[in-house]
Amino acid sequence: MIEKFDLILVGTGFASSFFLNTFLAKAKPTTRILVLERGRLDTHAWQVNNRRNTSQNPNDTFINTHPQKKWRFTPSFGGGSNCWWGVTPRMMPNDFRMQSAYGVGVDWPISYEELETFYARTEEMMSISGPDDGSPFPRSTPYPQPPHRFTDPDKVLKKAYPDLFFHLPTARASKSTPNRPRCCATGVCNLCPINAKFTVLHEMKHLYEDSRVTLILEAIVQTVETQAGVATGVSYLKNGVVSQAGADIVVLGGNAIFNPHILQRSHIRHPLLGKYLDEQIALKVTIDLDGLNNFQGSTSNTGHGYMLYDGEHRKEHAGCLIETWNTPNDLRIEQGKWQQRLILRIIYENLPNQQNYIKYDPNNPDLPETVYTGPSDYALKAMKKLPSILPGILGSLPIENLRIGDRPHSTEAHILGTTVMGHDPQTSVIDKHLIHHQVRNLLVLGSGAFPTVAPANPTLTISALSLWAAHHLLN
Ligand SMILES: Cc1cc2nc3c(=O)[nH]c(=O)nc-3n(C[C@H](O)[C@H](O)[C@H](O)COP(=O)(O)OP(=O)(O)OC[C@H]3O[C@@H](n4cnc5c(N)ncnc54)[C@H](O)[C@@H]3O)c2cc1C
Ligand code: SF4
Repeated sequence: MIEKFDLILVGTGFASSFFLNTFLAKAKPTTRILVLERGRLDTHAWQVNNRRNTSQNPNDTFINTHPQKKWRFTPSFGGGSNCWWGVTPRMMPNDFRMQSAYGVGVDWPISYEELETFYARTEEMMSISGPDDGSPFPRSTPYPQPPHRFTDPDKVLKKAYPDLFFHLPTARASKSTPNRPRCCATGVCNLCPINAKFTVLHEMKHLYEDSRVTLILEAIVQTVETQAGVATGVSYLKNGVVSQAGADIVVLGGNAIFNPHILQRSHIRHPLLGKYLDEQIALKVTIDLDGLNNFQGSTSNTGHGYMLYDGEHRKEHAGCLIETWNTPNDLRIEQGKWQQRLILRIIYENLPNQQNYIKYDPNNPDLPETVYTGPSDYALKAMKKLPSILPGILGSLPIENLRIGDRPHSTEAHILGTTVMGHDPQTSVIDKHLIHHQVRNLLVLGSGAFPTVAPANPTLTISALSLWAAHHLLN
């Protein structure tokens, strides 16, 4: 006998947890939900004591065919919320309409305006601290928490760019909440020792303890079962045994490496399934300041510059988001000048490419393979221009020396594309409500849905999309 549920949810990261939040709020007392999570529940104390976020090695869960390109995630209860840094910009309105506005990439099937209230709700749920003196994107509500304290270089940039430089929005608390203490700016946020950042483990674990929810840990979902184009359940591996569970609705929240792999393994085919794997690329900039001290901020990164983000240049090359950093490991090693150092991270958008993808090998069906041929010329062109334009952009700062990293970071720790959303079933895997175009009782959550790669960090958008998808499903 196969046990039957109303809903099967795969994973316990942001995508799944924000979906579950809305689903439970609207579900009947008799509704039965099965959650299958491949990882263990590694407590905060375990993580801090062991100096790592998960007791399972992420590299054992997939094959990276181009290891110089890293892909980072956390396979355990709460997923990437354990390791993330909590940087939470919204995407800009034009990020959703790159084709209409700039003639590059594609338009998303959903607009900023449609997602706005779901962004606001997500920010409320994460107690986001953000600017209170304007915003780069339209907002219907103020941020739930006041901004963190700027550094002195941030204040100089704010004065020079009142409408383009803002306090960085973050899930690191600027004032204590009932559950979390105020962030103390130690800057080891992937393992925050005092639990000042939002995590699923800390703030949403209760959802998985709801009497309607059955959570099975260390259960690896292998396939979605279908009959006549309808999802009927999943098969999963636990303790070396493959079991099946049935459901009326199946929801995948396994991230953009594992969701397409589950679909590939299930033979739920689409020409673009697994394609457009990508993320942003970023350069580090190290600036020695002449007489201006840094590091007065109240959290690890404090400012967001939109000077090179949106505008006509995006017809030709990528836009970028500028982050200012406030972590003590970047101090200058010269007597009397140790605070006179500013680190920037310049994060570029990318145009997704079909040559970057998740490969399924039927001879090794347990492990997805990542194939990556490189970032787009669109992003590389913008990076090449940086040395000529950055000194001008930073003209208000007393710069003694400015060094731009000669190569991008090996990863931004984001995984995007692979189950892209769109109106047209020929050119997209899922629709605007994250429902699979062909299997209409199957949802695919997460950043796999992103048809373009904006400069903004993705997780606030992932979470807002999950609220949006659950809201639509139940209305
Ligand atoms: C060090 C680091 C810092 C980061 N900082 C930021 C940041 O500041 N801002 C930002 O926006 N983003 C950040 N990110 C990215 C962020 O973590 C991800 O965007 C986010 O976690 C994605 O959420 P998700 O729920 O889609 O996937 P995940 O968080 O990866 O969750 C997927 C879950 O599904 C489970 N799962 C996978 N496959 C299966 C299966 N077959 N069966 C059962 N369970 C399965 C996994 O174990 C996991 O729990 C950071 C990432 C890292 C690694
Ligand atoms: S800066 Fe320190 S206190 Fe704040 S979230 Fe990061 S690690 Fe935690």
